[in-house]
Amino acid sequence: MLAILYPKNCISDDLQRSSAIRMTTLTFYGGAGEIGGNQILLEDDDTRIWLDFGMPFSRANRYFSEFLQPRKLSGLGDWFEFGLMPDLPGLYREDYISRLREPSDLAFDAVLLTHAHADHSAYIHFLRPDLPIYASEVTKRILEALEVTSTTGFAEFLRLKETFKLVPKSKGEGFKRLQGKEAKRSRKFKVIGSRARIGNIEVEAFPVSHSLPGARAYLLHTSSGTIFYTGDFRFHGRGEEATRETVERVADVEVDAMLCEGTRVRESTDIPEAELERRITSEMRGVKGLVVVNFPPRDIDRMISFLRASEENDRKLVVSLRQAYLLKMLEGSDCGAPKLDDVCVYLPRKNWGLIGDPSYPEEVVAQDYEYWEREFLNLENAVIAEDIRESPRDYVFRCDFFELKNLIDIRPPKGSIYIRSVTEPFDEETEIDKRKADAWLKHFGLYPYSQIHCSGHAGGPELRRTIEDVSPELLIPVHTEAPEAFEEFHQNVKRVKLGQRIEL
Ligand SMILES: [Zn+2]
Ligand SMILES: [Zn+2]
Repeated sequence: MLAILYPKNCISDDLQRSSAIRMTTLTFYGGAGEIGGNQILLEDDDTRIWLDFGMPFSRANRYFSEFLQPRKLSGLGDWFEFGLMPDLPGLYREDYISRLREPSDLAFDAVLLTHAHADHSAYIHFLRPDLPIYASEVTKRILEALEVTSTTGFAEFLRLKETFKLVPKSKGEGFKRLQGKEAKRSRKFKVIGSRARIGNIEVEAFPVSHSLPGARAYLLHTSSGTIFYTGDFRFHGRGEEATRETVERVADVEVDAMLCEGTRVRESTDIPEAELERRITSEMRGVKGLVVVNFPPRDIDRMISFLRASEENDRKLVVSLRQAYLLKMLEGSDCGAPKLDDVCVYLPRKNWGLIGDPSYPEEVVAQDYEYWEREFLNLENAVIAEDIRESPRDYVFRCDFFELKNLIDIRPPKGSIYIRSVTEPFDEETEIDKRKADAWLKHFGLYPYSQIHCSGHAGGPELRRTIEDVSPELLIPVHTEAPEAFEEFHQNVKRVKLGQRIEL
């Protein structure tokens, strides 16, 4: 007689799944007790979804700086060394992970991105290309613009270049490194409309206002209940009615757990973007020289404020090549971004600095620029330093920290002003940068200046109202350094630590 034995690995996967106890968990690999770096793993039975996969700035800046960067050569070792990403099998791209060990099969179902800020999306560069990334159409376009115009080497968001691979030489014997077109691979990138089904989980996407377009909040219907993940949001931007409508709709749903951002939980309501536009407009009034401004590169709400203020004052807004590329990418989307024709594009002197010198042929001048920049060189609305120097009264020149060097070419005349519309320094590095920027501005007679800015995040009073409206069973603060402040808003607050797993 034969005894029939069923070793564990002979039982079909399906059988194993149905016999397992259904369980829903959240694990906080990033975004717990810190602002940004959200890497939250939602597991519902055998469905595993990442809620954002961003860079934890404060932790990364503790070890790294501009000239002390993690090395690609170690695969992911340099990031794992400091716990900047969790070392989990079946998550990372094979070319990188194979520097450390034998790669495993794909073990996750999706990454759900709330928006294109680096603290939510930058580390998707390291993920397997067959792991589907879900995001709004506008987020996809912004990531594509970032990928094309980035200089970091870690911005492969839609397409990646396979590294560390040898292929036989086409002529003769031996091997060569895989490079160029042959190394390119596409990621599985999926634009999410209003809903999607990912494994066990039904996902609903809701637009929210934030300091860049395309941001989404998500409702996740799991087998243990409904989770509301806010992403980053505010009520004082141009798309504020989107946030209000989203909260109204979610208020009708029974929410079991709410993951709520709390960047500004200890602060009060910020000034609305419309008021900010009025202040900028009046600041520019009567200025005889050049208006130099700084605002975040992808904050389209702010760009509109500066554009309208410029038009009110019979000036033209001059944006950077990177911003021009972003505007080109956003054309035809529903985010309300200005058209490329509505602004002027600044062509800085680069490399040999030949722009505007008629003694050189066009193709030689073009060699001063990256390939993606060259299409802007012959735009009718392109301007160079000379144009602005000759008629400063006609322009508003957008100039961030790295573009300050252009002031040497432009030489703002007496009677010029500077408007700073970015966040105040928040750590040592940004303090130092601000001191340097101030020195430049003093040198060029643009000091003192006015600070006119509002944040991308809701303040304490709006967070309290949102939580009251959504009225979740359990409240989990994320993306905040002050999770305890939420205890004033809700009876049942769960404060989570990095690496902690909680069951729903
Ligand atoms: Zn964020
Ligand atoms: Zn953000």
